[in-house]
Amino acid sequence: MYAAYTEQRVIIGSWEASKEDAPFFCIGCHSRAILKKGPEKYPHFAHVSLTNCSYGRGESVRHWKAKFAMRDALEQDSRVNDVQVERAIGKGFGDVSFHDTEHNKVDSEMQMSTIPTDLISQRTQLYNSEDFAVLWLLDPSNLLSGRERYPARRMEKYLHALYFGRVYYWLGGQKILVVEFHECQPEGFFNRFHRAWDGGNGYIYSRYVTAWVRGELNIADLQVVTRKPENVGRFSLPAAQLWCLPEDSERSQELKRLYKHW
Ligand SMILES: [Zn+2]
Repeated sequence: MYAAYTEQRVIIGSWEASKEDAPFFCIGCHSRAILKKGPEKYPHFAHVSLTNCSYGRGESVRHWKAKFAMRDALEQDSRVNDVQVERAIGKGFGDVSFHDTEHNKVDSEMQMSTIPTDLISQRTQLYNSEDFAVLWLLDPSNLLSGRERYPARRMEKYLHALYFGRVYYWLGGQKILVVEFHECQPEGFFNRFHRAWDGGNGYIYSRYVTAWVRGELNIADLQVVTRKPENVGRFSLPAAQLWCLPEDSERSQELKRLYKHW
């Protein structure tokens, strides 16, 4: 585990903790934890006694540092309050959650790795049942924008459909990148008979998309949008409360057409 509670119920990262901050407690099961620092391994926390608690398993240091950076940036913004890392929401924990000025509850989830869309759907429904609007944020490091053919992952296409034709990537602090996927067509092929390049005859790739960067925003610039359950292409989207830009009805019509190919 790369984070734990101190006695004052403050969450501390293993990289910034020292033995003087002890005692530490597991965020998941609240039992005693110990800080382990040595030349061999990155500083981390471990349960003092044997336990079947699986809290923090699979999470990376990078993910934890990202949560702290996002919290620190949001705390500077007067449009949000009660910013918390790892708030207990239902049976799980929200990465970084807060209230907006209208007292809406919002949770921001940073998904650094690829996960099944079923899991995103389940967690989105969980947040909805706990009355939290959710913003799923992805890692932009492999994103190809502009004229490049981008092999968007299933998870990205799913979130793009869920968020009415936009995907949000985390840039640092509370800065996010807004990206729209559009159809990607072959550049064309060489017609030997005419000795000229022909167009792609309207063929739309199912695997590739063209990713258009719409711009950068702050997380606090977004708003709560309620989504009805809907089938978009092969995706069955749940009822949800989303933290995002408002729906654009023209774009939603276009999505229905695009997701026949995707
Ligand atoms: Zn534990």
